[in-house]
Amino acid sequence: MLADVLRQIGQRERFVLTSHARPDGDAVGSALAFYQVLRSMGKHADVVLHDGVPRIYRSLPFADQVLQSDRITGSYEAAIILECDSIHRTRLQGLEDRFLISIDHHVSGRPFAHVNWIDPHAVATAEMVFRLAREAGVPFSPEMATCLYTALMTDTGSFMFQGTNENTFALARELVLAGADPAHCARGIYFAHSEAKLRLLGEALRNLHIDGDIGYFWATQKQMEWSGALEEDCEGLVNYVLSIGGVEVAAFFRELSDGRYRVSLRSKGKIDVARVAESFGGGGHECASGCSLAGPLAEAVHQVVVQLRREPSVQ
Ligand code: 5GP
Repeated sequence: MLADVLRQIGQRERFVLTSHARPDGDAVGSALAFYQVLRSMGKHADVVLHDGVPRIYRSLPFADQVLQSDRITGSYEAAIILECDSIHRTRLQGLEDRFLISIDHHVSGRPFAHVNWIDPHAVATAEMVFRLAREAGVPFSPEMATCLYTALMTDTGSFMFQGTNENTFALARELVLAGADPAHCARGIYFAHSEAKLRLLGEALRNLHIDGDIGYFWATQKQMEWSGALEEDCEGLVNYVLSIGGVEVAAFFRELSDGRYRVSLRSKGKIDVARVAESFGGGGHECASGCSLAGPLAEAVHQVVVQLRREPSVQ
């Protein structure tokens, strides 16, 4: 599949790169690294993201080149969609009639494009971009390495999530040798939160419930407004509840403006939260997944908790 992707790239000159809406570190880092890879291959590339680059990733090299839009309009010969299981999740118009290449590492990845390279064994999409660049003979610059390292670091939960193995560290080593600075990358992400995010965390933790080994909490629109938090400030909040000893699965519910709820699920490994998210039309990984549910809140919480309880290994 990698060979197929490289062949398709070789036959074309103009590319647009994108990923899912509300992009995370792997989405942004992989897209920015791929942008550099394509340019280094002498191709034209633009990165378009529906929600632009979240604040914490804005110091990444070339982040200022990302176009924020809800439509792709350029004369591109192919669109490369990273980390995404459908056109729909990009929230971009104008992709439908284009030649599509999908590169994804999610177990829930679906072959929706003309060329689909889906590798659930890859620990992050960044790993696949790294392999592609190496196969293409592209030399790794410190800027490329910084984007890929940041993607790898965030998608593995700082090298703590299940799936992190010796290959992950081998890849990290390669990226550090190529010029990524681990302390600098970590500082930009983990010591760069907005005050509003921490205020929202405080608010949301007032809604904390522990039910056996399931921990769940939520943030309402009102709490978001009071804290001055943006949507992107919700990224990672769920991990605070997962950090509680005895909690095997954590769920964070965020109220949306239309009354629906975005759910972030995290597991320490005993339970496969990708299956739970998929049962509600979402997806992700065994230990990190997401989905959306209709309100009211009590009903959404009930449905998710019941579904979690149906999974084996949860007491
Ligand atoms: P988060 O909780 O950070 O939004 O998402 C955790 C993981 O699940 C990420 O890898 C993300 O891409 C995936 N994910 C979240 N929501 C969805 C969804 O609605 N559909 C799919 N397919 N994956 C999702």
